[in-house]
Amino acid sequence: MRVLVISDIHANYAALEAALKDAGEVDETWCLGDLVGYGPDPNAVVEKMREINNLTCLLGNHDVAVIGQMPLETFNGGARRSLEIHEKVLSASNKEYMRTLPSKTAVLGEATLVHGSPRNPLWEYILNSLTARLNFEHFDTSWCFVGHSHIQCMFALDEEQDRVSLEKVKPDVPIKLHRKLILNPGSIGQPRDRDPRAAYAIYDTTARTWTPRRVSYNITEVQQRIRAAGLPEKHAVRIAEGW
Ligand code: ZN
Repeated sequence: MRVLVISDIHANYAALEAALKDAGEVDETWCLGDLVGYGPDPNAVVEKMREINNLTCLLGNHDVAVIGQMPLETFNGGARRSLEIHEKVLSASNKEYMRTLPSKTAVLGEATLVHGSPRNPLWEYILNSLTARLNFEHFDTSWCFVGHSHIQCMFALDEEQDRVSLEKVKPDVPIKLHRKLILNPGSIGQPRDRDPRAAYAIYDTTARTWTPRRVSYNITEVQQRIRAAGLPEKHAVRIAEGW
């Protein structure tokens, strides 16, 4: 089975559309959360997600806040400002749809899915090998797919040496999966690994491979839409630079 794994779309419809087109035919789509926040098109993104067949979609911290399940004050400055706007513009029907989605973890075959980390699904960032190491004890499957950090990467646990390493991943180079890994497909709508192209991954459950991918989209057009929506200028600047 060919699975499209996406995360952190952040209301960037142009980036989502580019990734879906680039991925081509897939059997299932797994989304690790954060449909909204930061970007100009929260309704278009949620509506697109609602059209995807065989979708498993978790909620992220921004999603939970916008549907009233977490105070907006939990977020700082620019993030809060965009959530205040999204809370107003999101249609009742799209919010209702989001309320039907799970916000913790999902286990699908050999993979555990979570937005942040298995021990703290909504808030913890797995950015270094120490945090990854502590989290390897919190899932029972071979692999855990995480988002939230917006960084396309992989952490590997060497069970014999009891050591965790942060491994480099390259677009279009398939990774042969083995026990035990934490994999991040990167962010569709706001990459933070200095590569502004939309990031996602293709997981092949039969070949047991994970292929990180990047795809270009029209960033200038999205920047204009961010400005037109009255969203913080910072969100326009960062998507062109990947931070
Ligand atoms: Zn996010």
